[in-house]
Amino acid sequence: MGFADLPRIVSSSDSLRAEAALAEVLHRQRQILENLQESVLTLDLEGYITGWNQGAEELFGYRADEAIGRNVLFLYADDGAVEDESDDPPIPGRREFDVRRRRKNGEIFWAGMQLALLRDEHGQPSGLIGYLRDVTQRREAEESLRLHARIFELADEAIIVTDANHRIIAINPATSRITGFASDEMLGRSQAMFRCEHYDDEFYNALLAQVEETGRWQGELWTRRKDGEIYPAWVSIAAVHNRRGVVTHYFSVCADIAERKRTEGRIQHLAFYDALTNLPNRVHLHRLLDQALTEAERKGRGGALLFIDLNRFKPINDTLGHGVGDQVLQEVAARLRNSLRGADVVARLGGDEFVIGLFEIAQPDHVSLVAHKILQALSPPMLVGAHELSVGGAIGISVFPENGSDPETLLRLADIAMYRAKETGPDTFEFYTPEMNERATERLAIEAGLRRAISRGELLLVYQPKVSLVTGQIIGAEALVRWKHPERGMVPPIEFIPLAEETGLIVQISHWVLEEACAQARRWQDAGLAPVRIAVNLSARDFSPALPSRVVSLLSDQGIGSEWLELEITEGMLMNRTDAVIAMMAEITKTGVTLALDDFGTGYSSLSYLKRFPIHTLKIDRSFVINIPHDSDDCAIAGAIAGMGSQLGHSVIAEGVESLEQVEFLRRHGCDEIQGYLFSPPVAPEKFEAMVREGKCLQ
Ligand code: C2E
Ligand code: MG
Ligand code: MG
Repeated sequence: MGFADLPRIVSSSDSLRAEAALAEVLHRQRQILENLQESVLTLDLEGYITGWNQGAEELFGYRADEAIGRNVLFLYADDGAVEDESDDPPIPGRREFDVRRRRKNGEIFWAGMQLALLRDEHGQPSGLIGYLRDVTQRREAEESLRLHARIFELADEAIIVTDANHRIIAINPATSRITGFASDEMLGRSQAMFRCEHYDDEFYNALLAQVEETGRWQGELWTRRKDGEIYPAWVSIAAVHNRRGVVTHYFSVCADIAERKRTEGRIQHLAFYDALTNLPNRVHLHRLLDQALTEAERKGRGGALLFIDLNRFKPINDTLGHGVGDQVLQEVAARLRNSLRGADVVARLGGDEFVIGLFEIAQPDHVSLVAHKILQALSPPMLVGAHELSVGGAIGISVFPENGSDPETLLRLADIAMYRAKETGPDTFEFYTPEMNERATERLAIEAGLRRAISRGELLLVYQPKVSLVTGQIIGAEALVRWKHPERGMVPPIEFIPLAEETGLIVQISHWVLEEACAQARRWQDAGLAPVRIAVNLSARDFSPALPSRVVSLLSDQGIGSEWLELEITEGMLMNRTDAVIAMMAEITKTGVTLALDDFGTGYSSLSYLKRFPIHTLKIDRSFVINIPHDSDDCAIAGAIAGMGSQLGHSVIAEGVESLEQVEFLRRHGCDEIQGYLFSPPVAPEKFEAMVREGKCLQ
């Protein structure tokens, strides 16, 4: 407090006299003090307490004999709290200062303190007198007022105080920020200035009536900004009453929730719409269908669900990558949307599956027209990057109310019909019929039967010879699986391989096929047959890192050389994880087992791309061979594959060769081998062995 700064007036020469005078003064002061209600204490110029009245005793808890003679510093709080705004020490004779002091019991409190200078009879300063009172309560009240004012100033929400007649009397800075009005444009006006025409007077009257009745209202309100924009706000209005219960003020707190709503909207959108195509997703489709079906039922209307599966999407996605696949899906979505009316629902279920809901169908046969229109929309090739791609689709249709009236049933039946359309395909549509359900049940039965087929020994291999176009001799065979079903007879692979791939059963089937082909090779070797390459077809799932070591152990288990085995893979297997795939293929070919690329030309890989893979043979797909020599496009494709394939060092084989004309053409274009019904269909192993032994030759 700076007593040390006050000039000392007591000098050594006249100290005795001065002390006597001082004692007299102090005595008088003490008498005064004792009679005072206020807390009063006196100090000498060095800050030592010389007087202490009853009030001081009550305020600090120290008795006079405990306080007098001690330096006043022992009463200081020293708790680091800021005392008064000014940095200066309290100066005698000036206003009251708020200071922090400590009671005997350790409690710290705010004291209002006034100081006055005491003088001796010569008018010289002799000490200080301090008047103190406990102002803790006042300080706290002031503090909380200050805090409230700060909150009012700093709040992000608009805070508006009105009088009992809803005239605005106070607003915080956020109000201007949110509404766009300057404060003088708001003060004095009615709070109704923020109303928007979304609500009528009746609404606002009811709202105010509730505030009147219950003291508050809270809810979401559309509100008007100065520029006319209507925005959503979370508003809470409360009435302020006086002691007699009469409303004196209202205050409203309004949070601008436009941004939050936008974010919520975006999140909502992500949950219900497919991010790639922006079409409703599966979840949202179910909701839309629920609503539309209820509505259709109420109005006695019918409609249809179209389940679309793209036809050639998988090879595009597998061979050209997901980036291209994504663009194709986006283009498909746009084409579907453009070929339908606004009231029709288009959704993407995932993958290459789309669903269309038609709810405004005037006549049942209009559904066929729409299905036709969609197929037409999907048919023109789409240009993605440098690729010209054509997808097309298979459409299954269920109609309501005939086939059902809930989304699940209708979707399931449309899906079943779609499977049938795929089989009839390529680009076609089918209406669901109860017989299809039988087919679907049959599929399930096939699946169950297939699970048992291996253990019951119902699978067998047939062998189709591969013939050299140079020598005319058999140089190998393709092993093709058959299922000898106890009731259905011989089932071709096309009826169970895709199903096995879907269900994962293919892994066990391939395992069996590889083992059986190697075992057969061993039997032929034992029978003295010179090695012929047996080609085994693999599915994408089989092409795993475990494959090379499996091949090696199969060969050594059977004790046959690698010149007995070839693996047929398809383009799709090459496109993902290219480096890992190349390493795996290299490991396989290192053993001497060769790799053939089956169905070549149906994917989208280019010949130069294939140069990177250690492939021995390209198999020209049957679809290009079938129309040789009549279709000039097919001739050109088959010719190009044969020519470029051999230039790049691959051996080229054509599959599905049925005529001598085809052989002629292929031979001329540099094709090395053929396989097809012309020479022989797939046959039992004994028959194949006989052909080899008798040296059956291509004429
Ligand atoms: P793929 O590998 O392209 O086999 C050639 C298919 O064409 C065989 O049908 C064969 O019988 C048939 N084919 C051969 N020459 C001719 C011909 O001159 N004209 C006609 N119209 N067809 C001919 P298959 O045996 O029905 O096999 C169909 C497909 O099933 C195979 O196509 C292959 O993708 C798959 N597959 C067959 N066996 C297996 C197997 O063991 N494992 C795996 N993963 N797939 C297999
Ligand atoms: Mg094959
Ligand atoms: Mg093939």
